[in-house]
Amino acid sequence: MSYVTIFAGNSVNGTYSTLQALQAAGNHTTLAYTHMLLCGLKAWATQTAADGAEEARKMCGGHGYMVISGLPEIVNSVLATCTFEGENYVMWGQVSHYLTKGVDAATLPADLVYLEAYCADMTSSCKAVGTDFRESRVLLDIFRRRAAKCIVEAYNLVAAAEKGNGLSREQAENKHATSLIVAARAHIELYVLEASIKQLASLPADTDMSIKAALNRLVSLFGLSTISSPFSPFAASFLGDRYISASQILEMRDQTDQLIQELLPDIVALTDAWSFTDASLQSALGCKDGDVYHRIMAWTRRLPVNVEAKNNGGVFKAGWEQYISPFLRENRERRSGSRL
Ligand SMILES: Cc1cc2nc3c(=O)[nH]c(=O)nc-3n(C[C@H](O)[C@H](O)[C@H](O)COP(=O)(O)OP(=O)(O)OC[C@H]3O[C@@H](n4cnc5c(N)ncnc54)[C@H](O)[C@@H]3O)c2cc1C
Repeated sequence: MSYVTIFAGNSVNGTYSTLQALQAAGNHTTLAYTHMLLCGLKAWATQTAADGAEEARKMCGGHGYMVISGLPEIVNSVLATCTFEGENYVMWGQVSHYLTKGVDAATLPADLVYLEAYCADMTSSCKAVGTDFRESRVLLDIFRRRAAKCIVEAYNLVAAAEKGNGLSREQAENKHATSLIVAARAHIELYVLEASIKQLASLPADTDMSIKAALNRLVSLFGLSTISSPFSPFAASFLGDRYISASQILEMRDQTDQLIQELLPDIVALTDAWSFTDASLQSALGCKDGDVYHRIMAWTRRLPVNVEAKNNGGVFKAGWEQYISPFLRENRERRSGSRL
């Protein structure tokens, strides 16, 4: 997720530079599109980072909950980004408003033209999707189909609430905010996939083949896990849609597991490539030398509560030195053969 976020970030930086150049010449035509994209990527990237940090914390079990693991602080500070600089639900609202306005327009904005193919297809029997789910073309087809379906469905709900219930556009969008957020998210994830595929295609020609292969696997993993993860609220997007069958979703999950196996030898290098310093992570678990357990003990001994405990009795209760500690020591010596 970090890699595709960087790919999408590089791409949107280009879009923003283009906007600035156009605006300097008095041309504001790409403003609405760029605004939508920045809002959507802000919400998507910060939520992805917050979910990822929390997942990393959980993966370290109880160790991840320790303050000296650094993970609670990382989770907390990343979580704040979902709120500041544009609260994420408000950001999704900006994207979905752009989508409903785009569908209403006499001509669809360029980034929404993919809706036409979906609408044309709805009346005919759906084409079966290709079976090589790692192939960019197949993944893009699936992402376009999913986004188009979500957008058209959400738009129809809003339109029905306006016409049927006499609500204003604002009230109708508020009523169907959940469906609109799903659609907004699917549209942004399509952008992330497109941007990642483009960035991979534009890597310098002399890029090491093994690096290209690893990055390609990461992008495929993003695509497949986004579509088929049982934990994804979007996995159900295709239910009742003949475009992808339930057995194809299972096949995607198999390919996801396969990709993870193939990526395993590169995972440490792909993680270290971000070059986080020990000082920035401030984690007893995450230091470069991997000396986790000595460091946990060393840092724990230096915690003020333990230093005070040693000097002043602190957390030690009366009787510890006199009874409990000798008892435990004696027990340990008696069982010296046991690791416990
Ligand atoms: C760590 C941190 C640092 C910050 N630093 C700064 C700073 O340096 N400078 C500064 O000015 N501010 C700062 N803020 C404030 C921040 O910008 C606001 O907290 C943020 O914009 C959200 O506004 P709010 O707190 O009023 O929440 P609200 O806007 O009240 O949001 C509360 C809930 O209501 C929902 N909601 C809001 N509007 C709508 C709507 N129209 N439709 C549907 N639902 C809606 C939101 O989705 C959210 O779930 C900081 C906040 C944090 C957490």
